[in-house]
Amino acid sequence: MSLALPNHASVAPLTLGSMDQAADQASQDAQLSLTPSKPQEVAILSKPVQLPSTLSPEPEMQVPQSSETHPVKASSSLLRKVKAVVKSGDTLSGLFNRNGIDANTLFKVLEVGPVSNHLKRLFPGDEFHFTFEADRFLRLEYPIDDENTLLIERAGEGFTAQTITRLLDVQVKSVQGVIESSLFLSAQKAGLSDAMTMEIASIFGWDVDFALEVREGDSFAVIYQELYRDGKKVRDGKILAAEFVNRGHVYRTAYYKVPGGRGEYFTADGKTLRKSFIRTPVDFARVSSGFSLSRKHPILHTIRAHKGVDYAAAKGTPIKASGDGKIVFAGRKGGYGNTLIIKHGEKYTTLYAHLSRFAKNIRSGVRVRQSQIIGYVGSTGLASGPHLHYEFRVNGVHRNPLTVRFPGAAPLPQAHLANFKTKTAGLFTQLSAISSTTQVAEN
Ligand SMILES: [Zn+2]
Repeated sequence: MSLALPNHASVAPLTLGSMDQAADQASQDAQLSLTPSKPQEVAILSKPVQLPSTLSPEPEMQVPQSSETHPVKASSSLLRKVKAVVKSGDTLSGLFNRNGIDANTLFKVLEVGPVSNHLKRLFPGDEFHFTFEADRFLRLEYPIDDENTLLIERAGEGFTAQTITRLLDVQVKSVQGVIESSLFLSAQKAGLSDAMTMEIASIFGWDVDFALEVREGDSFAVIYQELYRDGKKVRDGKILAAEFVNRGHVYRTAYYKVPGGRGEYFTADGKTLRKSFIRTPVDFARVSSGFSLSRKHPILHTIRAHKGVDYAAAKGTPIKASGDGKIVFAGRKGGYGNTLIIKHGEKYTTLYAHLSRFAKNIRSGVRVRQSQIIGYVGSTGLASGPHLHYEFRVNGVHRNPLTVRFPGAAPLPQAHLANFKTKTAGLFTQLSAISSTTQVAEN
């Protein structure tokens, strides 16, 4: 079967600062409470590093007080509050030491129980709020995340600890937009963050190739949460329901957490969008032919009988295994250059060509997981520029990776279907209401 060559567009690569991080965060399993990303871990209790003091006086923190009697009996005017911000290279002992708290006291603080384990992994930017009575350390408040604060207080000779939870206020928002020049620009125009856009792409990425298949006139609609504290937006919450219309195909989905299971996105009739294969084996945002109104073809095809899809991306762009499987070939292969072939069960194989190099430990015989990085874009073999040449075969026959039907994951268990429909009916109705399309969902 011979497939038409995918046209190569001449659009500049999409570059968005926070995208890589966002991509990592964009998980199919949308958690109810996303913890903020903490990129850099800091060693603790090793030798303290001398840093310029980051202390600054701070007004009284508002932390709900427990009903127990506080040891703080003195007039509050004697209380001194100090905020310390963790810097790269900081250690817990160094931080305490700088604030005049001796090692013995720190030892007691860490003895309060497992809740103090939160202190054992510090990240730059973490805040410590110390309270002193004269020079005597009384209390530590340490925000664990947006909603939880660790409170450690002096109690007699030792300390007690508790976690104080203040849930964020949830507001439900909905937006829709039609794609004009790029998904990111249209989403931004609609008021969505880049992270949110990546999340949408990850929800529909099983069916839609966001690198090559998005077109002008495609549209999206999203119902999502925004989380607030004291009237100020803290961050986006979960996507509750979403629609993506790709070249006339309408995909609609709503979030549902199977009781006792994990949350996932399901179609109105309870099917999951999740598939055995991801549609795009590279980060779509890095593909230079995102889509174009003038479908120019910048890469000269020198490989005869071209039966795959080409993703033009910068040299070194990571390539992901599109499904779970086993590497059956890793090496040079004529015009394909550095090539990987993965066997996925009995029926399916995928091929990745022109790689600049393979990822660490990737060689023939190795098992890989879906979305695992297996190599990097290059231009080895007969390639006029860096790109990933990708092939998909079913029972040995080439199929168009853009359109081949992928086996789906198990649908919602029958026992939960009625509950799912009850809980999500309102969301699907709302999607229809805000959708810019009048078509009936096809999936
Ligand atoms: Zn190709």
